[in-house]
Amino acid sequence: FNIDIPYNEPVLSYAPGSPEREELKQAIKEARVAERELPAFINGERILDGEKVAVHPPHETAFTLGHFYRGTTEHVHRAIDAALAAKPTWEALPWQQRAAVFLRAADLLAGPFRARMNAATMLGQSKNAYQSEIDAVAELCDFFRFNAYFLQEIYRDQPLHSPPGTWNRLEYRALEGFVLAITPFNFTSIAANLPAAPALCGNTVVWKPAETQIYSAVVIMELFEAAGLPKGVINLIYTDGPAVGDIVFKHPDFAGLHFTGSTKVFQELWREIGNNISGYKTYPRIVGETGGKDFIAVHPSSDPEQVAVAIVRGAFEFQGQKCSAASRAYLPASLWPAIKEHVVEKTGSLKMGTVEDFGNFVNAVIDERAFDRITKYIADAKEDADVEIVTGGNFDKSDGYFIEPTVLLTKDPHYVTMEEELFGPVITIYVYEDEDWEKTLHLVDTTSPYALTGAVFATDRGVIEHASKALRNAAGNFYINDKPTGAVVGQQPFGGARASGTNDKAGSALNLHRWISPRLIKENF
Ligand code: GLU
Repeated sequence: FNIDIPYNEPVLSYAPGSPEREELKQAIKEARVAERELPAFINGERILDGEKVAVHPPHETAFTLGHFYRGTTEHVHRAIDAALAAKPTWEALPWQQRAAVFLRAADLLAGPFRARMNAATMLGQSKNAYQSEIDAVAELCDFFRFNAYFLQEIYRDQPLHSPPGTWNRLEYRALEGFVLAITPFNFTSIAANLPAAPALCGNTVVWKPAETQIYSAVVIMELFEAAGLPKGVINLIYTDGPAVGDIVFKHPDFAGLHFTGSTKVFQELWREIGNNISGYKTYPRIVGETGGKDFIAVHPSSDPEQVAVAIVRGAFEFQGQKCSAASRAYLPASLWPAIKEHVVEKTGSLKMGTVEDFGNFVNAVIDERAFDRITKYIADAKEDADVEIVTGGNFDKSDGYFIEPTVLLTKDPHYVTMEEELFGPVITIYVYEDEDWEKTLHLVDTTSPYALTGAVFATDRGVIEHASKALRNAAGNFYINDKPTGAVVGQQPFGGARASGTNDKAGSALNLHRWISPRLIKENF
């Protein structure tokens, strides 16, 4: 059993007339008539009790896609018990057996689950076909396959010297206890990988998804089941976050948190874990990816059209709801007129509407809370004499949570939308005088507490080299002459430091190491 270096799952085009497009349309049709009951999964059992909550597509709020049941605290206890009960057998399996489950899941996802997973992500999270395909299918297949490969490489690695008469070896154990995965709505692949990566390493998991991602979370559980994941290894529950935390963080067997979400929540959880620290059998591993305020910094030597494409794609794909989305740009005065022309023209050509019309580039933001939060920033900007709405600025929630891709121009590099994370289709531009590039780099580095992604555009190699040094700590994923989104597993391991997270690079061996607790064994002959 040897896992070759995987390939990245090819992204299908869904071009008009293609077989995948027909299949996807069919899957969407089936999903629409179903009005599905969305169960929690505890010890492989489907659970439908608790407060009934309707799920609507964010772009069509009058339509009910299904229901889930907000769970009780009893679900949390049962999920923890199931995870602990499943642990000894799962951990004791040869690692190849565990890897085989996830390799099989990747093949099922690339095959018979592909259309269903895309339909669930498109309808439940308002992602267009392309955005769903690169996330829920391609990236998730890549997480499964690459992580299996990385695990093999980790287990093989025995970097120890054994003098004659001794045998030193590392035994790569799972953590002692269970892991809690708290996952976001914005990437189905991340939501699945946060429980899957620790599970691959022999851990068992309680998984609490965002309530806005439950529709695709259920399909993920069905996929795991079809791939042969034993009962109780991953348990999916919908109990309120604070209730989950209350029980999990007081449990002596709590051994790790795998989190993607807001900085504020992550810090609260960390504090709670800290408060309970003497109650655990082992120090819990805490791995989190949190917010971002991702930049595009453009040197005067750049190509305006290339920059405009990066702004539009980086800021507006999936309605800007990527932690990596470009949300502040620093543009030189000499290039601004040309960049502006391209940005206005390209943004104006983006179609907005439901995911079922495949021509729509922009869909809805995830829910009313997000809509209200983002549109408040836009409304405030309209009132501010020092801020210009370059394009967009309209919004409407009568049918779904639609916000036009919006470009703001500010004279103040510390204007609120240059500093705070909006998590929506809004980018703010600050135009600097060409001779102030050095000062601009300093602004980029110091304006926000985050350090997730960022991009610099320049053609001069000296400028590129200098900027990447000056911004050494400003982004965990640093792009040169490219948009700051779209990290690919196996190519650009993803994560940031500062207020953006623990930078344990999803989709790399560095992340898997956090779910392993090695034992050193010395033996004398
Ligand atoms: N990995 C994604 C990207 O590079 C972003 C992940 C996130 O939004 O959390 O676009």
